[in-house]
Amino acid sequence: MKEPTCLRCGKCCFLVNPKTYEPLGIKCRFLIKVSATRYTCRIYNQKDRLYRDIGHDNKCCLRHQSPRNYKGCPYNILKPSNPLLGEKNDKNNKKEV
Ligand code: SF4
Ligand code: SF4
Repeated sequence: MKEPTCLRCGKCCFLVNPKTYEPLGIKCRFLIKVSATRYTCRIYNQKDRLYRDIGHDNKCCLRHQSPRNYKGCPYNILKPSNPLLGEKNDKNNKKEV
């Protein structure tokens, strides 16, 4: 199976409240905008993808280690089209940010 491609949208590189996990609207200091829709990272030399998430304690980790969902991110745990993504499963699914 082909691996999904990171869109380099940068949504996963914003600081969160360490207790509630809510986004704070503050981008990681290493995130660099390279075009209207694309970002890159100053310290991780990932040409084609970011594939990282700024998670609890605001530490950067690999995207697959994160349970978070981001709008349009191909690495989301459950896709919006997945029938399991209902209210019943909210406890297993972080809100998309
Ligand atoms: S891992 Fe997902 S949220 Fe992060 S930059 Fe790539 S597509 Fe965007
Ligand atoms: S990949 Fe990690 S260090 Fe780089 S900008 Fe994103 S959160 Fe920051």
